[in-house]
Amino acid sequence: MDKKTRALALLICVAGFMIFVFLAFRVAGGDKEGGVLPDGQSVKYAGVVESLPDGGGSETQPTRSAPDSNSEMVRVRDYAPEIRVDLKYAGRKNMTGRRLYDFSDAYLRYGTVKKLIRAQKQLEKLGMGLEIWDAYRTVEAQKKLWEVCPNTAYVADPSKGYSSHTRGNAVDVTLVDADGTEMVMPTGFDNLTRLADRDYSDIDDEFARENVRLLEKTMKSCGFTPYKEEWWHFTDKDNYSVMKDFVPPQ
Ligand SMILES: [Zn+2]
Repeated sequence: MDKKTRALALLICVAGFMIFVFLAFRVAGGDKEGGVLPDGQSVKYAGVVESLPDGGGSETQPTRSAPDSNSEMVRVRDYAPEIRVDLKYAGRKNMTGRRLYDFSDAYLRYGTVKKLIRAQKQLEKLGMGLEIWDAYRTVEAQKKLWEVCPNTAYVADPSKGYSSHTRGNAVDVTLVDADGTEMVMPTGFDNLTRLADRDYSDIDDEFARENVRLLEKTMKSCGFTPYKEEWWHFTDKDNYSVMKDFVPPQ
């Protein structure tokens, strides 16, 4: 290689290196300017934030600002998108075999949601999470449920009072793994046998026993009272009045 060729090769190398450095800076700068998270979350929630009640947001919770009061009825995924929702009464896989309401989003009191978020965070440390099976239930849905199952052990008699689900401070939940797959539990939803109660001594599956105990312990530590007949049902210790006229949007 003569001197001229060597100089040309060196020039090409230097130019190549400068182009590389230039492009690297552009990529880094683009991420900062765009404010787009790798999973696209900021885009996903942009529309939601516009419809929020007044209040400040925070960098740690970019999805939603807090409402004025714990009693405000809110959509759970606006505050806790990491909690899975599969409302059993929005479909037919429940004891009635009917669809009891037309909405598929879980709604709860904001104070109750805050407690659920605490439970979710505890479970995430163990590689698990929550999945909601039922949350706020309309009075109309409560009446339909009573028609099918007039048994006060499982359904509140609408002529005598209301379920905590119609107050928006009760939730039916199960555990999911890191992939969102439901974990083994003593029974499925709406199982009206002794296996569903909180006497876990009759549960043969060791994993189901451990999982249900973990769910109960976690929810209790976050301010919920477990219902003795149904391992999936928890009521917020803070009580609220019945929401007779609230109907979540479809
Ligand atoms: Zn329930």
